[in-house]
Amino acid sequence: MAVGFSNDWKTVVNYACLLGEGPLWDTINKILLWVDIEAGDIHQYSPVRNEHKITKVGHLISAVALKSSGAIIATLQNGFANVNIKNNTIEYISQPELHLNNNRFNDGKCDPAGRFWAGSMDYISGKEKAGSLYVLDTDLSVSCKISDVTCSNGLAWSSDHTMFYYIDTPTQQVVAYNYNIITGEISNKRVIITIPKENGYPDGMTIDQEGMLWIALWEGWKVLRYNPHTGEKLFELHLPVARVTSCTFGGDTLEDLYVTTAKTGLNERELQQQPLAGFLFVYQNTGFRGSKPSTFNG
Ligand code: CA
Repeated sequence: MAVGFSNDWKTVVNYACLLGEGPLWDTINKILLWVDIEAGDIHQYSPVRNEHKITKVGHLISAVALKSSGAIIATLQNGFANVNIKNNTIEYISQPELHLNNNRFNDGKCDPAGRFWAGSMDYISGKEKAGSLYVLDTDLSVSCKISDVTCSNGLAWSSDHTMFYYIDTPTQQVVAYNYNIITGEISNKRVIITIPKENGYPDGMTIDQEGMLWIALWEGWKVLRYNPHTGEKLFELHLPVARVTSCTFGGDTLEDLYVTTAKTGLNERELQQQPLAGFLFVYQNTGFRGSKPSTFNG
């Protein structure tokens, strides 16, 4: 790692999301996708063309994934849907939380077998254990993988496909499960990392090719890199905004770390102190490489 890398962030586009989230690198089109959950927007940025596009979906949208065809699948407030950004139409696939009015979906990602995992939370009152983690399988059936979740976040799978890492934000923990790629089963939960509250609240997460976890810290002004095998913190990347929501690797060689942030909930004074809150940031040429994101195989 080059000296000085840790503070070498850049803003990507001159745009502040309310709640930027869910960064995803499209390896085919070489585009970074992310969402603004509260605005209900999908953002796309092409570094090659320096082009930023916003699609107004008109619904809360918490995460996107790509099919191999390039089509977009997403989690909206209550469940999974196909989103066609050419004609701006949505088609629900399954809404497992249609009956839970105070809930919305939150972070989501595809596993190495092409299933779409996404969890939920009570976004009105923040009620404890009101959410769950679901999986949309490739046959379009939905099952609940983890219940009694308060704020579902931070999904990652190890590159050998044996481990699943997960964050329920208020626990301050990253937990690991054994993962079976054939069946999608997870088992043997254990706590591998506990993040002190003074570092902020663990939110989104990605994994690099060395198997290390990069964890975004809400109210923490940073991304932390951790060794999930030892629980050791390796280093911190500092940002000029408090609400750091998620991160992923992108770019031709998957060595650029993209980081989403939020401005939602900040007061006047905080907004003045954090003029870049809600921006998308990038650390270019980190010297670390991410894994190619999985597509949805349904
Ligand atoms: Ca999140």
